[in-house]
Amino acid sequence: MEVGFVGLGIMGRPMALNLLKAGHRLHVWSRRRESMQAVIDAGAIACDSAAEVARGVEVSFSMVADAPDVEQVALGEQGIAAGAAPGSVFVDMSTIAPSAARSIASRLAAGGIDMLDAPVSGGEPGAIGGSLTIMVGGRPEAFARVRPLFECLGGSITLIGESGAGQVAKACNQVVTGISVAVIAEAFNFARINDVDVERVREALLGGFAASRILENHGARMLARNFKPGFKAWMHQKDLRIVLDEAHRLGIALPAAAATAQMFNAMSGSGLGEDDSVGMVKLYERLSGGVAQ
Ligand code: NAP
Repeated sequence: MEVGFVGLGIMGRPMALNLLKAGHRLHVWSRRRESMQAVIDAGAIACDSAAEVARGVEVSFSMVADAPDVEQVALGEQGIAAGAAPGSVFVDMSTIAPSAARSIASRLAAGGIDMLDAPVSGGEPGAIGGSLTIMVGGRPEAFARVRPLFECLGGSITLIGESGAGQVAKACNQVVTGISVAVIAEAFNFARINDVDVERVREALLGGFAASRILENHGARMLARNFKPGFKAWMHQKDLRIVLDEAHRLGIALPAAAATAQMFNAMSGSGLGEDDSVGMVKLYERLSGGVAQ
């Protein structure tokens, strides 16, 4: 199939490579030429804009950062809508606000372009391995058309509901993962301050009810002091901002998410925003009087 892809960062690049490996003809664009290079080397067709990517393809994907970026990619002067034919599908896989996804979808629909919001979980390893969890919002007909492409990218693929529903599911995912990263950093710091072997604490916890994939994966990276992103802390800060904005709009309390958002704010403010979110452990160390490297 002729497929388009915009946004070739930590996640987008391996996802685009998996679409190429599956035999699709891929048209790509990213703001910086160097972000595109690996994908062009693997056989993708380089374009000069998102509009050019969308010209002549049935389905185009984006994997950028936040809602203003998706707006620009979808509806900007040189955006998808400027090149896509009526009847084509635009799939945004970035994590953005559900309300923003609904708004972009309704404006694209006016030009006959179907949009799916399809954010993911699974991080860089899931993107490389084609094993992402994909949470989709949009029309079932569009979902059925795109499903074979989703199967090149992910293992668990769920149509959650109408436009915006994929982003709602992803917001729930970010509440759970954000709080989990913070509480594991908190517990590890507590063990460290008590002069207890943190690795042994982790091993013990993995055998009980505190076990989780975050304790296993993120916990191991905290102990190895591997802060290379992965998932940048400022991205998780953005995701909790999305969740709390929605909570404000709806008038509901999300106290645990709100407390965790403050910690991600503090990571960004103390120069840890470009670290992986597991750098949270450094923030706890600083707050406890330890000087973290
Ligand atoms: P990233 O490495 O920073 O990549 C973002 C890409 O989007 C870059 O290639 C950037 O282009 C491009 N981009 C950003 N704004 C753009 C714009 N206005 N116009 C055109 N291109 C634009 O980020 P990432 O980690 O891949 O994350 C991408 C999305 O996936 C985010 O919404 C994030 O929340 C979500 N996500 C990430 C993970 C993870 O573990 N990393 C997991 C699940 C979901 P340039 O390279 O040219 O700057």
